[in-house]
Amino acid sequence: MHLYAATTNPGKLRDFARAAEGSASIRIEALPSLASIPAPPEDEPTFEGNARLKAVYYSLRAPGLLVLADDSGLEVDALDGAPGVRSARFAADLAAANAAQATPFPAPHDDPDHRNNAALLASLAGVAEERRQARYRCVLALARDGQVLLTAEGSVEGIILSAPRGAGGFGYDPLFLVPQLGHTMAELPAADRLALNHRGRALKALLAQLAAQ
Ligand code: IMP
Repeated sequence: MHLYAATTNPGKLRDFARAAEGSASIRIEALPSLASIPAPPEDEPTFEGNARLKAVYYSLRAPGLLVLADDSGLEVDALDGAPGVRSARFAADLAAANAAQATPFPAPHDDPDHRNNAALLASLAGVAEERRQARYRCVLALARDGQVLLTAEGSVEGIILSAPRGAGGFGYDPLFLVPQLGHTMAELPAADRLALNHRGRALKALLAQLAAQ
């Protein structure tokens, strides 16, 4: 069975492919026509809403194919679940909200990951470590011809540090401590990071549902 992922992100495709390794009958590849389809606005308030929206949207443009769409991000308990669905745009959102005041972040930086990490640290300033619980979450939706057939989710729990550590990974990984390993995601070898991956966990949950049907 072929699942067509609505992403060209090589990291996501690699996470999915690795999680599907134990499922001999499943092949996951990028949706062939993706580059020619304008991306829809991801404006739902939940990961599931955005994953469903994308799965419906792309599957209507790829008749007959099983289309897999995802949404993921970081939830921080002390921030009531923020940045959540706004994870990629957290610094930009805060900067817009503070437009009338001086920017709350250190010197402007071109790298969005760096800006988002600075925004997260600023938002958690003064919050004690025991209140810095967070998780990466991913929700997947599988659709065909505009109908969502299945959804599934995966997560990994962590603690947000008060200074970055490590150079691997991407996004919030240098601030995301995996407590049982004593390392941030960015300090872990790629194989360990992949083994913990929330996208991989979500895909395994989705494939288990598929197999049970
Ligand atoms: P996307 O919408 O699923 O592409 O992810 C949204 C944002 O969530 C990314 O831009 C990152 O800031 C954050 N994110 C999602 N997954 C990860 C991860 O595995 N590591 C670090 N950051 C992540």
